[in-house]
Amino acid sequence: MDGQFAFSEEQHPDAAVEDVWRVLAVDDDGDFQRATASVLRDIELLGGRVELIQAFSCSEAEKLLANYKDIALVMFDVVMETEEAGLRLIKYLREEIDNSHTRVVLLTGDPDISPAPDVMRDYDINDYWAKSELKAERLLTVLAAAVRGYAQLRAVAKARRGLQRIVESSNTLFTCKNLPELAGRILTEIAQLISQPVDALVCMRREDTTVSSPIEADVVGASGRFGRYINTTLSTLDDLSVVKTLQQCFATQLTQRLPNGAVMFFPRLQAGADYACYIRCERGLDDTELELLNVFSTSISRGLFNVAMFSRLENMAYQDDLLKIPNRNALIRTLDVTLHSPAKAKQVLIDIDNFSGANTAFGTGYGDFILGLVAKKLRDAFNSEVFVARVRDDVFAILGPQKRVCAAEIVALFRKPKRPYELGQVNSLSSVTMHLDDFNGSARVALQDALLTLKQAKHLGQDQHSVYDPGLQSAHAEAYRLLLALRDAVEAGQISVELQPQIDMRSGRVTGVEALARWRKADGSMVAPLSFIPLAEATGYILPLGDLLMRLSLRAAKKLADAGYPHIRVAVNVSAPQLLQHDFIERFSSHLLMTGVLPTQVEVEITESVAMRSFDTVCEKLSALRAMGVEVAIDDFGTGFSSLSYLQLLPADRLKIDRSFVMEIGATNDQQMIAEAVIQIASRVGMQVIAEGVETQQQADWMLRHSCWHAQGYLFAKPMECSELLTWLGALEKRSA
Ligand code: C2E
Ligand code: MG
Ligand code: MG
Repeated sequence: MDGQFAFSEEQHPDAAVEDVWRVLAVDDDGDFQRATASVLRDIELLGGRVELIQAFSCSEAEKLLANYKDIALVMFDVVMETEEAGLRLIKYLREEIDNSHTRVVLLTGDPDISPAPDVMRDYDINDYWAKSELKAERLLTVLAAAVRGYAQLRAVAKARRGLQRIVESSNTLFTCKNLPELAGRILTEIAQLISQPVDALVCMRREDTTVSSPIEADVVGASGRFGRYINTTLSTLDDLSVVKTLQQCFATQLTQRLPNGAVMFFPRLQAGADYACYIRCERGLDDTELELLNVFSTSISRGLFNVAMFSRLENMAYQDDLLKIPNRNALIRTLDVTLHSPAKAKQVLIDIDNFSGANTAFGTGYGDFILGLVAKKLRDAFNSEVFVARVRDDVFAILGPQKRVCAAEIVALFRKPKRPYELGQVNSLSSVTMHLDDFNGSARVALQDALLTLKQAKHLGQDQHSVYDPGLQSAHAEAYRLLLALRDAVEAGQISVELQPQIDMRSGRVTGVEALARWRKADGSMVAPLSFIPLAEATGYILPLGDLLMRLSLRAAKKLADAGYPHIRVAVNVSAPQLLQHDFIERFSSHLLMTGVLPTQVEVEITESVAMRSFDTVCEKLSALRAMGVEVAIDDFGTGFSSLSYLQLLPADRLKIDRSFVMEIGATNDQQMIAEAVIQIASRVGMQVIAEGVETQQQADWMLRHSCWHAQGYLFAKPMECSELLTWLGALEKRSA
């Protein structure tokens, strides 16, 4: 056992425990009884007083033996009422009342009669004496030996019971999952172990106490007269001697015996933190009890360690590392309980608008700062009835009773129009409200569906507030079916690419084509890429699908080159999960090699939001592509939140003005302004610019007027299969020739 746990022998004020040694003398011989009584009067042995009980017949003795379980020694005449009386009494003692501790000395009036050796052995009879030989001095010697034997047997039995108890209670200690429960259990078990009620304290040393300040500790368990101190601190105890004893225990790191109890120390190494347990009882503890406590302390340490580890794991699993508030797992656990309770409840998810943009533009430190402010504001706004968790990134959940949780009020918390430029101000956020009483799915699905609704809402722009529609559950199932169908479509070769020309409007020449995914079902109907690409992205299926699309696009590029158009660049759309694969560049190169396409004939298109996410990694990948000769275009430009400084650092060749801005040309001034701004930004950062979705001559003219020379759109051509494109290109050449 660890030396730390040894009971210090220095403090040993009065280990003596008040004991009474009961001696039962059974004899019908009055003279013998009187003589015995006079010898044993006022005798003390091994720290205990000798008390004589007398019986004059076997039946009287049986009654006394049944009543007093703690008789140390019984002396009796073999021959009493009957020849067999002595034998009957010993059988009664050992077999009927199952007493194996009481020592037995047989007496006889006749020195020639001795009991059979097997009786001596079988009934554990210690001594055999002729009464005539048992003079005062000898009687005392016999008595001392018997009492010592009895005390030892009793100690062993107590130790065995104690050890059994320790084994059993250790198991219950290990099932405790929190400190208050464990501390309570430890105190109950200690009281049981030493068979008396205790006034006790379990304290955990505070880590933050400095060297100079007095040692402080939290009272994590308390019983008896200390009961009221639970959850307070050591220094609030009114009994200063107890405070001092515990402080000393923490300082010396030693377990000590006390006049009426003990103070036990459990070191951090074994218990996860420094703990001390103060035990005060009605009487002093004997050596066996101290030894048992010593043994039990190992179990206590392990129990404390387990609880510490469990709470650390629990924190890891259920607490957000950054914000120290419940995380997604904790939300699901609470949602699960809520969904199973009849109380009307609601959950609101909020998402900070433009958070990832701000994060990229001003750094993650700033992003963390904002998240901290949001978490604090939410926590301060609600009492414990309402559960606030961070779901992921900048999405928070507020879950609670219908009456307490209201999206409009939450949004209002963040509306501070007076000081819109205050640091860390969240100017806008979007939300989704979900009424949980009409939801019949699991907690996980409830969260997933709420997130999906939130995502859809955010597609519409900023400051979006929607209410979850239970019909979405079927949309969910629909999405799942679609994903399975997509997998089958890949296998059945139903996925292809079409190519849409990109034109230099000054010359009318085709400079490039964009490869666009197509899914043609067996019945000839088409599935739009906007319904299956995001699904594939969300589920990770985009990795194999993207690989396929890349191969198909490069094969088309090869066909173009072979048909005499090696200068027509083929643009391939690449999603975030694809680009961020650690071996993306290797994969891309091997596709180029396999199809025999030159890197200079290829362009990679990534959307603006992807470009601004994981900025450093994205830049690294794009630089590697450009180093190979591959060009890079930023798709859907104008829809994100790119800061100019970041854009300047982005290794890209061209910006694609999003179709939504092109569409508005001629309609409203605002959107025109965005298109103009994009063109200016592109020229500032030295990138080419191309307009997407040009459908009218008016839009094309506008672009030319604003020095945007390149365009892609139905005005020039729709996306076409490769063979169709070759025919189209042939016709175009003929016309311009
Ligand atoms: P995107 O990359 O911005 O592609 C341009 C979209 O605009 C294409 O839609 C194209 O058909 C459409 N478009 C082009 N000109 C016009 C026009 O004048 N008017 C109108 N109304 N639309 C025009 P599509 O093919 O439906 O693709 C939609 C989106 O799906 C793409 O937007 C892209 O984000 C994604 N996508 C398509 N193919 C792939 C692919 O192979 N890989 C990945 N990752 N995404 C793809
Ligand atoms: Mg594109
Ligand atoms: Mg686009």
